Amino acid sequence: IDFIQNLPKAELHAHLNGSIPIPTLLELLNEYESSYDPVNPRYKLSPTEIRVHIDRLQNLDLSSLDGFFGPFVGVYALISTRAATTKITRAVLAQFLDGDSPQCSYLELRTTPKESGEMSRLEYVSAVLEEVEKYPKERAGLIMSLDRRMTPEVMREVVELAKKLKGKGRRVVGIDLCGDPSAGDMDTLESSISLAKDAGLGVTLHIAETKDNPAEESLKLLSYGPNRLGHATFLNEEALAIVLKEKICVELCLSSNLLCKTVSSLDAHHICFYLEHNHPIAICTDDVLPFRNSLQAEYALLMAQPPLGLGLSENEVVRIAQMSMDSTFSRT
Ligand code: 5GP
Repeated sequence: IDFIQNLPKAELHAHLNGSIPIPTLLELLNEYESSYDPVNPRYKLSPTEIRVHIDRLQNLDLSSLDGFFGPFVGVYALISTRAATTKITRAVLAQFLDGDSPQCSYLELRTTPKESGEMSRLEYVSAVLEEVEKYPKERAGLIMSLDRRMTPEVMREVVELAKKLKGKGRRVVGIDLCGDPSAGDMDTLESSISLAKDAGLGVTLHIAETKDNPAEESLKLLSYGPNRLGHATFLNEEALAIVLKEKICVELCLSSNLLCKTVSSLDAHHICFYLEHNHPIAICTDDVLPFRNSLQAEYALLMAQPPLGLGLSENEVVRIAQMSMDSTFSRT
């Protein structure tokens, strides 16, 4: 445990609203409940409806994609004020970075800019950034996510916002593509990605997360020249050859993939392929709220003996942790 705790490592794939500590979320739910006015509600969901969503997030029904993505609306109801957004961001940053044995040395947190309740996208991102910037730049940066359910116009607006904030010296280090993997038309993404790249922003894309993501879509996303990839579970040979040739770092979320059953067991996980090819990877948590994991526990999975873990040596794990530090967008 000491070995894992002391290892310099970067968390590069953590979704803000998927990483809220449960006590913080319940505090917000209690506040929402006590100030709830059914005649003039702050948000369209009642406290009871929100509770159902939070319960669903804690006990995922993965028989459909909506079982994972649907319950986030309950979280969004609770964070629809600036004070609440500040509170959750502070709690998530503290969870990863504070204390005697922080989960990681550097956190690249990602979130989808929302028009939420009383806030515009800019106000939402500003509230998040203010908290991120309380840490030195060697410890924390922000990635702005494009949700696949956004229209191409909104995606472009988000990238313009990221560019503007970066231009003003704010701590936006990159953009991400996330959200329901079955949604959206990836052909329309190209101009937003080139805008981001021209602005010097790092680009990471969730890719081939499910069996249903077509091979042509993955090849299209790769043709946009991303710096990193999220999950990359179902890439075909042609796509894999590109990833290896371009040495694109792959953000791997072991527990997330096992719990979502996109990978049947650790020894069948695509991490084995990348390790065999000495390819850059970053071990990440994804969403500690539903998956109840931690970055240290993900590293423990690397070291535990099979079948529980991968049985890697300390030297191998040092090398993997170093790869995460070498793949941050502050280095792009
Ligand atoms: P937020 O962007 O609101 O801070 O974080 C939660 C959001 O991240 C979810 O609503 C979803 O759009 C996205 N997200 C979280 N986990 C995953 C994942 O494993 N795959 C994809 N594609 N999107 C995710």
